[in-house]
Amino acid sequence: MSLVERDKKVIWHPYTQMKNAQMPIPIVRGEGVYLFDEDGKKYIDAVSSWWVNIHGHAHPHIAEKVSAQLTTLEHVIFAGFTHEPAVLLAERLLPLLPGKQEKIFYTDNGSTAVEVALKMCLQYWNNSGNLHKKKVLAFKDAYHGDTFGAMSVSGRSIFTNPFNDLLFDVEFIDLPNEKNIVSLKSQISNLSSQLACFIFEPLILGAGGMQMYAAKYLDQLLKTCIDNNVLTIADEVMTGFGRTGTYFACEQLINHPDIFCLSKGLTGGTMPLGVTSCNQKIFEAFLSDDKLKTLYHGHSFTANPISCVASLASLDILLAAETLANIKRVEEQHKQFFNQIKNHPKVRNIRQTGTIIALEWETGNDTSYLSGLRDQLYNYFLTRGIILRPLGNIIYILPPYIISNDDLTYIYQTIQQALEEI
Ligand SMILES: *Cc1c(COP(=O)(O)O)cnc(C)c1O
Repeated sequence: MSLVERDKKVIWHPYTQMKNAQMPIPIVRGEGVYLFDEDGKKYIDAVSSWWVNIHGHAHPHIAEKVSAQLTTLEHVIFAGFTHEPAVLLAERLLPLLPGKQEKIFYTDNGSTAVEVALKMCLQYWNNSGNLHKKKVLAFKDAYHGDTFGAMSVSGRSIFTNPFNDLLFDVEFIDLPNEKNIVSLKSQISNLSSQLACFIFEPLILGAGGMQMYAAKYLDQLLKTCIDNNVLTIADEVMTGFGRTGTYFACEQLINHPDIFCLSKGLTGGTMPLGVTSCNQKIFEAFLSDDKLKTLYHGHSFTANPISCVASLASLDILLAAETLANIKRVEEQHKQFFNQIKNHPKVRNIRQTGTIIALEWETGNDTSYLSGLRDQLYNYFLTRGIILRPLGNIIYILPPYIISNDDLTYIYQTIQQALEEI
């Protein structure tokens, strides 16, 4: 039996309707921006393997550090014990985060990093004796993960549909813009006595369709939250580690959130790991002789040493001058493509933030066309050796920073060709 046939017998894939799913592509090797299948066909990983891979596949520096750690200490319980990679990673991460972040809590993915952030905020008010602040404020089209708390604070969509009546109640607001900012601010201050926290994806709503919004309006929302005693959580799971042109998207703000959620690019895309960081104010609300004020949360693989050394190695690469130059270069290439394509009649909208560019395909009002279009586009690019996963009619490029100008040009040209042919 081929690998694909064996897969079909035993595997249930994520975000996949298994009844009529296309055969998965068996990947045997990765190198830099490329993935190679069983037949030796090469693919450009233009979505960084679901947004996690920032430095390219099988990076030798990360591989070397991980390999050494495997024969030193693979894992140890993190309650009552500690280890150098976890401490060193916290020491290196905290000063990089905007504002004054003081403590790192480890988990193992983006969703659990969000769960911990929510628990920190909700229990903060509980521990402080304020029993009225129990509501979360979030954006209507937000995506914060697939566990129940993370789903609750995400927009209601086809993803959450079967569970909607089990999700806790959230106050949803529109993305801020010039027109609605004043009313959003008054909405927040009016509700503030009930609001525990505001959770947001800074500058870009990722899975919600790569919707981008201006830093200055987010800054105003943050200021309103700070002035009204509402805690703030920046979900930088997707935007962290250089994606938006700065190391963290919140560097582009004047006001600073209380909490950050990180994952995806954290280990360079090598190992699963999640981080929830917080400032001293949050941490201190849990210090008590009363055991009930403890944060009772933890996962078996909390602060896994292999994941921590992968993150340390990824940070070495991220902080090298060469990587920042690559990020600027990708941004610049995207900008040129943006100008080249923006007036095309099939381009309804094109937008860019840092190394992410998103193009909305003009579909008119035909929704049946829309659902078929996504698969058609996906296969069009796959056939041509490019991995892009359109979100409906939105094509986006979110590449590892090491992608060459030649490969970017090839992707741009293939998109232009698709605009003519489909
Ligand atoms: C992907 C994502 C998550 C969830 O992370 P997982 O590791 O997939 O659980 C949370 N927030 C944002 C903004 C994301 O893009």
